[in-house]
Amino acid sequence: LKRAKRQGVTEVYEPIEAQAVRRRFSLETELRVAIESEALKLAFQPLVALDTGKVAGFEALARWEHDGHQIPPSDFIPVAEESGLIVQLGRWALSTAMQTLADWDARAGRALPLGVSVNLSPIQISRDDVTALVSGALGATGVSGNRLTLEVTESAIIHDPDRVAAVLNAMKRFNVRIAMDDFGTGFTSLASLQKLPIDVLKIDQAFVSDMLANGDSTAIVRAVLSLARALGMETTAEGIDSDDLAEMLTELGCTYGQGYHYAEPLAADQAFAYFMARNA
Ligand code: C2E
Ligand code: MG
Ligand code: MG
Ligand code: MG
Repeated sequence: LKRAKRQGVTEVYEPIEAQAVRRRFSLETELRVAIESEALKLAFQPLVALDTGKVAGFEALARWEHDGHQIPPSDFIPVAEESGLIVQLGRWALSTAMQTLADWDARAGRALPLGVSVNLSPIQISRDDVTALVSGALGATGVSGNRLTLEVTESAIIHDPDRVAAVLNAMKRFNVRIAMDDFGTGFTSLASLQKLPIDVLKIDQAFVSDMLANGDSTAIVRAVLSLARALGMETTAEGIDSDDLAEMLTELGCTYGQGYHYAEPLAADQAFAYFMARNA
């Protein structure tokens, strides 16, 4: 084998490779345990209506504290997707987010004017039970569909746009909202954008955070905003982390803002307090 010929090199690299495999395997095992033992948490990051400054909703983001430190989603979501655990994780995230919204309503004694956004992995969307999953979560909590936004990524669409369009259209029957996440980083054609029942375009933070330094990024954001407007879609700018960016995106007519400038992803109780304080 090639390896035998490059003996000197393999001696250095093989243990590292083996280590990476072992680490991935143990991460997968530990993630499975974490999901089953309900050790994962959801954090909620406000989505602020830029014209009024009020909180319109929260994006639910998975958090995993393991052995006293946080493992970032960029480490465990890929592991979950490759191992299939994303199906359980995604089901948990959806039902927990909906239940949290129902709990907030109960605390306030009324249906609050806010919704939750939940990320759907391409793997979830490719499954036949995805519509049943969503209708089940709505039914279990009694929350109306227009308060749930499902965030899908461009990578979910690229392989089979027609099938994804059919799935999303089926889910639109429950009145849910569909957001295209991280827009601008993938390869969605304008044709499939037109075909899909998208309510919100979320402009990837890579463009947003670059706007102050780079005129090209500002031009791209402007173009996406006007494309969305022409197609009757709302827009969210991700990664707003300064006053200047918040002001710029408000002036450009972006619908919602999300980012550290407003708040980091918050624990459920803190998110509820943030909403109450800000929308009072
Ligand atoms: P995303 O859906 O694009 O979520 C937004 C990410 O941007 C979050 O990262 C959030 O913490 C981060 N963020 C928010 N404001 C700022 C800012 O001002 N500056 C910067 N630099 N970052 C900001 P997070 O929580 O690490 O999640 C990363 C990704 O993991 C998410 O990206 C999403 O794709 C995925 N993810 C998280 N939870 C779930 C889940 O329950 N299911 C699925 N399928 N994916 C999830
Ligand atoms: Mg998202
Ligand atoms: Mg995003
Ligand atoms: Mg993103």
